[in-house]
Formats: sequence, C-alpha cells, structure tokens
Amino acid sequence: MSLDALIRARIRADGPISIAEYMADCLLHPEYGYYVTRDPLGAAGDFTTAPEISQMFGELIGLSLAQSWLDQGAPSPFTLAEAGPGRGTLMADILRATRAVPGFVEAADLILIEASPTLRAVQGETLAGHAPRWISDVTQLPEQPLFLVANEFFDALPIRQFVRDGAGWRERRIGVQGDQLEIGLAQAMPQPALAHRLDDTVDGDLIEECPALAPITATIGQRIAANSGAALIIDYGDWRSQGDTWQALRHHDRTDPLRDPGQADLTAHVDFEALTIAAPCAYSRVTPQGVFLERLGITQRAQTLAAGLAGDPLEQLISAHQRLTHPEEMGNLFKVLGLYPAHAAPPPGLNV
Ligand code: SAH
Repeated sequence: MSLDALIRARIRADGPISIAEYMADCLLHPEYGYYVTRDPLGAAGDFTTAPEISQMFGELIGLSLAQSWLDQGAPSPFTLAEAGPGRGTLMADILRATRAVPGFVEAADLILIEASPTLRAVQGETLAGHAPRWISDVTQLPEQPLFLVANEFFDALPIRQFVRDGAGWRERRIGVQGDQLEIGLAQAMPQPALAHRLDDTVDGDLIEECPALAPITATIGQRIAANSGAALIIDYGDWRSQGDTWQALRHHDRTDPLRDPGQADLTAHVDFEALTIAAPCAYSRVTPQGVFLERLGITQRAQTLAAGLAGDPLEQLISAHQRLTHPEEMGNLFKVLGLYPAHAAPPPGLNV
C-alpha cells in the first residue's frame, strides 16, 4: 500500500483529517514518512539549509552559544543540544569552532533531538568521535544548563489552518473526492487558543497554528529558566502568522502538498510571536538572519576564508555569504529568536 492509499482509506473510514494529522503522516509515518525514508538535504535532495550552504553559519552559531555559556559562568556539565539536526553539519561546525573556547566542548553533553532513524544514522557518521546521545522528545532533556540550536526545525512541525468566520473559525480539513485528496472547510467553531487573533483578523482571513510549538518551546524555556542556558531558534517566518504558508518542496521546486504524500518536504512559516508567548524565560528581539550573522562577524570570517582561496571555491564562498545574508535571499526571510534566563544577557548577535 502507498501512503496516499493509506491516508485515503483512513479518511473514508473516519472522516476528514486536519492538515496537522496529514503532515504528521507525510513527514514521520514509521514506514512511509518523508524524513524516515530518505536524507532530503542538499543539491541532490529536495531542499538546502543554511549549514549546508556554508560552514560559516554553524561556526558563528557555535561562537554565540559559547560566549553565552562563558557569560553565564561556564557551567559544567551542560547540555549542548540541537533540535532536528538534519545531516549533523551544523553541530559539526559548532563543535569545530568552539574547540577554541577552553572547557566548552569538554563540559558539553551532546544531545540530538531527532525523530528520523535514517537521519540519526547520517548524524552518527558526521559526528563520529563526539558520542552524541539521541532523544525523540525535548521532555527527555536533562535538568541541567541547556545551550540549544534549532535551525529549520519548527517549520517541519505540523500546523492546522483556520479561516475566520464571525467569532469562530472554520478549520481547513483534508477529505477525499473520487480518488483525490481535497481540502474542505469544517463548520465554524470557537477556538479559545485563537482568541487573541480575533483582534487582528476579519472574516475570510486564514491563520495557521502549530500545536506542538508551545509545549516544545515551554520545555526548552523551562530548562533555561531553571538551570541557565540559551536557545537560538532560526527559521523562516515572522511575528504572527497570517495567510497560507503551507508548502511542499520536491527537488527544489514547489509542488502541491496534497500530491504524492510522503514524497515532498512539507513546511510552514514559523509564528515567532507564538514562540515568545510559550517561552517561560526571557527572549530577544526577533532579528533577521542577515543582521544576526553580520553582527557576529560573518563578513570578517568570509574575508579570512577567502584569503586562502581562488577560482571556483572563492566564487562559492562569495555566493554563500550573499545567500545567507542578503535581504532578498535568506537574510530577511529567516529570523532568529534567542531564549535566555531573565538574569542573563541575550546571546551575542541578538538584543533585548
Ligand atoms: N537543522 C538541519 C535540518 C533541517 S530539516 C539543517 O539546518 O540542515 C528538519 C529536521 O528536523 C530533520 O532532521 C528532521 O528529521 C527533523 N524533525 C522533523 N520533525 C521532527 C520531530 N517532530 N521531532 C524531531 N525531529 C524532527
């Protein structure tokens, strides 16, 4: 059976499903899930992420986390964690760059939060020699200082979509028409969790809500508030969700999210306001990725690396710097949010 047939059979038996239920099956179904059946990253895959574009990204993230660790008294031991580590490239760059910070790597318990067994295996190869420990859920993070990064993790969490109708909301749900999956609108219902959105929407407006975002952020924030630490959350999105941002990418092109379930990467923009509402600790200003990386010195780092290069590798470095920082590339679309304890300063690159 294909995932498509499986989902259609389930809908025929139990009725239409939310976009979140569909996304969860498409991405992480134990047999057919997108992340379970492949390594989707890079030129040969479906999408490319910042750490896959250049080592500079992970190096600067590492130095920001390590400086924050120093500023908070260099606690030892501490958890160095990544949520959704993909190929492990970002963490490998963090660990290499922070070797220069005395005591940091030695004090770190390396924990990777990863749902996909396939990607766990890739991460194990990339990080051979560093003895990472894998967990599936942030609630398994130990009660000790936590320094965490999540790049393009929250965008992969399932979302629900709602269309405003009076004082209620009609959920967009997936049903079956003939042999095809099709989106329809459920009856209008009150949604207490969306009460604050009655102020800034009118009839017909569409908003998105990510049910897993709040509990995950609350757990990360609780560890930081109780034990010290910091989190850098990097993703595409903005303050408050508005409009349909649900998208499918296959071989670097957009496709219909309802076509070929399990074969395309499904994501939605991250609502940064929802992250700040859920976090029980201090949070920074939401900062464009380009500004964040420039503040951390990406241009100087690029110049240092460029000094040893010529020809194609030099062109690639210049283009990587541009892709990561330029406002018309990833520089503005991607935002960075820092979480930290109320008594500490935000991680370098971010401000209050
Ligand atoms: N951070 C990496 C990869 C981003 S892709 C990079 O920047 O290159 C999204 C990652 O999150 C993948 O590793 C995927 O398997 C993981 N993931 C998606 N949903 C998850 C979930 N619910 N729990 C844990 N990991 C998840």
